[in-house]
Amino acid sequence: MEQKLIDKYGRALDYLRLSVTDRCNFRCYYCMPEEGMNFVQRNDLLSYEELDYLTRIFVDLGVKKIRITGGEPFVRKGILDFIELLSKNQGLKEITLTSNGSITKAQINQLAKFGVKKVNISLDSLDPKRFFEITRRDKFQEVMNCILTLISQDFNVKLNCVIDGKKNIEDIVPFINLTKDHALSVRFLEEMPFNGTDKFDIPEWNYKALYNYIEAHFPGIQKITDGSNSTSVNYQIPGFKGSFGIIPAFSRTFCGTCNRIRLSATGELRTCLYGPPVTNLRDILRSGCGEDQLKASILEAVANKAKDGFEAENQVSDQAKNSMSFLGG
Ligand code: SAM
Repeated sequence: MEQKLIDKYGRALDYLRLSVTDRCNFRCYYCMPEEGMNFVQRNDLLSYEELDYLTRIFVDLGVKKIRITGGEPFVRKGILDFIELLSKNQGLKEITLTSNGSITKAQINQLAKFGVKKVNISLDSLDPKRFFEITRRDKFQEVMNCILTLISQDFNVKLNCVIDGKKNIEDIVPFINLTKDHALSVRFLEEMPFNGTDKFDIPEWNYKALYNYIEAHFPGIQKITDGSNSTSVNYQIPGFKGSFGIIPAFSRTFCGTCNRIRLSATGELRTCLYGPPVTNLRDILRSGCGEDQLKASILEAVANKAKDGFEAENQVSDQAKNSMSFLGG
């Protein structure tokens, strides 16, 4: 019998988010404390060979798309060789990645060669000073250059912008104006409780507040079709080349169509970002178990996927200390 990843609500999980490292060269306030965290030891990370082996099992189980994330994928040595290896997996229809924009021109050329077409870049401000306050790094120009290079090479670029009432409301209008001449999509995200500390304030700038603010500034705003399984609700200003979306990442209105599963850099498998790790595939693999046992563990985890991010959140005790850099955003 063919085994596929289908949960008890009938959702087919064909999208794997693969975190390749918990380390990052930025220190965005919503993700990690300024001083960093207790990063995992090298031995605890899944090696590229292990990642390749596990992804083949996921593809066998019906995964069609993999997003490489982290931490910052481009701080891990050998990442491009790994992407090349993945690109040879015939069953995989799409490889995408999320980065903070620390990708060099030469690396971008290689990504194009390996068939990567879609890249998400995190950018929370178009103002260098606010960018520095948010990321605690003086890298604005570098990130902008990366974005412009990606666009010039016809990558499908999405910008992820976490909105906070005290930090970057002034950036919303300029971000939308950026879509006038650039065919990219900007997505405004509600902040989630994964900043590596136990402090978190429920975001006042939720998806409704964001929509109202944008509509007040752009009365011509038009709804456009959302892709299936999309987490963003998408819009366009008539005549603009690009589009924008709002992601209710904290309000979690999109769980009903969730098709995601996540593997952390240390092998933790999560069926929901808000939930606990349901098993550790690195430990199963390193204990000498073969493909059948790994598949059985993945299938069992998926069968028990929580209905939504609220149910999943109720299953964890110390969620507030998690960093997105470890979870694999
Ligand atoms: N380093 C890469 C990057 O910056 O895109 C990939 C990893 S990062 C953790 C992935 C995404 O998670 C980024 O778009 C980032 O803005 C988002 N993110 C991190 N912490 C978040 C939080 N607490 N709430 C909402 N989004 C968050």
